[in-house]
Amino acid sequence: MYQSTRHWLEENWNDSLTLRQWWQLMNDARLSFPRWPSAWFGQDATKEDQNEIARAFADAAVIGAPSGLGVLMGAPVTMTFGTEEQKQRWLPSLATGVEGWCQLFSEPGAGSDLASVTCRAERDGDEWVINGQKVWTSGALHSTRGMLVARNDFDQPKHKGLTYFIIDLEQPGVEIRPIKQMNGAAHFNEVFFSDARVSDADRVSDINNGWAVTAATLGFERSGLSEGAFGGVRVPAGKQAGFLDRPVGELLEYVKASRSHPDEYGGLLSTLRTIPVTAGINEIQKQKMVSLYTNERIAEMTHERIASTMKKGESPGAEASTMKLHWTNGLRISRDLGMELLGAEGMLTGDDLPVEGKVQHFFLSMPSASIAGGSDEVQRNIIGEKSLGLPKDAQTDPKTPFKDVPKN
Ligand SMILES: Cc1cc2nc3c(=O)[nH]c(=O)nc-3n(C[C@H](O)[C@H](O)[C@H](O)COP(=O)(O)OP(=O)(O)OC[C@H]3O[C@@H](n4cnc5c(N)ncnc54)[C@H](O)[C@@H]3O)c2cc1C
Repeated sequence: MYQSTRHWLEENWNDSLTLRQWWQLMNDARLSFPRWPSAWFGQDATKEDQNEIARAFADAAVIGAPSGLGVLMGAPVTMTFGTEEQKQRWLPSLATGVEGWCQLFSEPGAGSDLASVTCRAERDGDEWVINGQKVWTSGALHSTRGMLVARNDFDQPKHKGLTYFIIDLEQPGVEIRPIKQMNGAAHFNEVFFSDARVSDADRVSDINNGWAVTAATLGFERSGLSEGAFGGVRVPAGKQAGFLDRPVGELLEYVKASRSHPDEYGGLLSTLRTIPVTAGINEIQKQKMVSLYTNERIAEMTHERIASTMKKGESPGAEASTMKLHWTNGLRISRDLGMELLGAEGMLTGDDLPVEGKVQHFFLSMPSASIAGGSDEVQRNIIGEKSLGLPKDAQTDPKTPFKDVPKN
């Protein structure tokens, strides 16, 4: 798989292609999302084959598959719950990077307790009218659509009166405001809906059954299963990012020039290997490297377990929570080890530092990883309840209508 992908890249990479053309070519060759089903732009590839493809892209240092929440969650949600018509309408734009999507779940009063959302959906003929606020919406500014969970029936119990839509963000009733983080980036946003509209044809769940699709989305998010090969250089998907019609050669130069912080979390292990360790690495640091490696290996095996569950047509369960904890565990060890290896330089920031200041930037970004996608504490609750059979977390009577549930 590695050799054939390298060969394909030699034949097809051309600096003057636009990003749109390049992603279309990758998609035609089924190299963007090899693990997706062959019916939908994939090749039912194994994890090993995907890794080989990723390595070929990385070694060739060319632009890789479109990334983002649309391909991570939107595509598997559409494949699992969408109608045939929705699949035909949405999947091609996601697979070719023409659209980026975001996840409109969390609200100021509904994060860990996500089923408490109060964003309102009211039926109006063939459409729904949406009013309310979402928060922490990653990438909303670069998104064409969003996966929205909204409450349509306040007389139903908390988990029952919800419905799931894919909403068009390019409309007057949607306002997106970026939130600045301590690492200097504005990765996520507040999103306000004021009489925004979504067609009933864009409803993914049955009315009142949005929680099932929401829970499955969180499973896809945690397991990260549907992500593309992700070898090669990452460029954000979607027309709002403004890259689709630029030549890929020019984009590579652009990304290299602004590459010091291409990714807030990923790839730190490989970064750590490039830190010049002049004083040598001590025994304790060696042990940390080993635990990082062990964590990665266990995560890969858990990933395989989830993949085989999904092949049977089932959604990932508590294993997805285990996967998320492996991820944050690895990041935490990497962060501490990175700062230790840097010594006093760890206190500085800037692109002129070893490995372009990535470790320090990562240090400032890491706390959010333990919260994103459901906090680590909440993942432990899920594992405790679903896998270990521990007593359930305190909750109100699941039959109480949402309007009567005491609010904070
Ligand atoms: C980087 C980042 C990106 C994000 N992207 C998105 C996005 O794209 N879309 C989206 O919808 N949301 C997104 N989120 C929101 C994220 O899902 C929520 O922040 C998260 O679910 C926690 O909710 P909260 O912030 O309301 O905290 P709270 O739920 O108020 O929790 C506060 C603290 O209490 C703890 N806690 C809460 N309940 C329990 C419990 N039952 N048992 C034990 N401890 C508990 C939590 O672990 C946490 O430490 C993102 C968050 C981050 C940090």
